[in-house]
Amino acid sequence: MKYIWYDLSHVYEEGMVEGYGHLPLKTERVVNVTGSKITNITFNSHSGTHIDAPYHLVNNGITIDLIPPEFFTGFAAILNIEKKELEPITYDDIKSYSALLEKVDFAFIRTGWEEQWGNESYTWKYPYILPEAANLLTKFKIRIVGIDTMSPDPSIRSGLRKGNFAHDVLLKNNILIIENLTGLKPILGKIVETFCFPLKIKNGDGSPVRVVARELIN
Ligand SMILES: [Zn+2]
Repeated sequence: MKYIWYDLSHVYEEGMVEGYGHLPLKTERVVNVTGSKITNITFNSHSGTHIDAPYHLVNNGITIDLIPPEFFTGFAAILNIEKKELEPITYDDIKSYSALLEKVDFAFIRTGWEEQWGNESYTWKYPYILPEAANLLTKFKIRIVGIDTMSPDPSIRSGLRKGNFAHDVLLKNNILIIENLTGLKPILGKIVETFCFPLKIKNGDGSPVRVVARELIN
């Protein structure tokens, strides 16, 4: 069988844009006594393309290490919900994809904000999900909601943040959240087989994740 593969994760590198309060990612190459190259890496569990476990905001929520691998593979609908800076994703935006969302395990939302990656405004002017739209996402049998922004909730700096509503409603329903997706444009409107395995971090509230989709071509 032949597939086209799509890489939906950003590159992990020093200097990449980071969320509020994160220590920036740092790499230090070391030459081992054996002559091999090894690297000491410091990063936040919510840096770059990453997945939020329920424990991120729900005190008795499950941690990333305890979620079985089959949770992280399934079929994703790629929703084309293009938005401008600080523009919200509405109930009707999600509702218009109901037929697609009935059939899938994951909902990946492309607002187009992925194109701002690397700009300072990426971290705070991004589009976000309104409470009623987040609520509607819990009505399907979706296990993961992904988005091409820093967060489904607006940034604190934007002045629009009132609590953590989208995070709370999704994570309380055991719907995990992938933030900072990229590369969704070629698969807009499609259903694609998707793999997004996190690191098995003990008591982890989240983890970097390599998100990959594939389409069967024959
Ligand atoms: Zn996160």
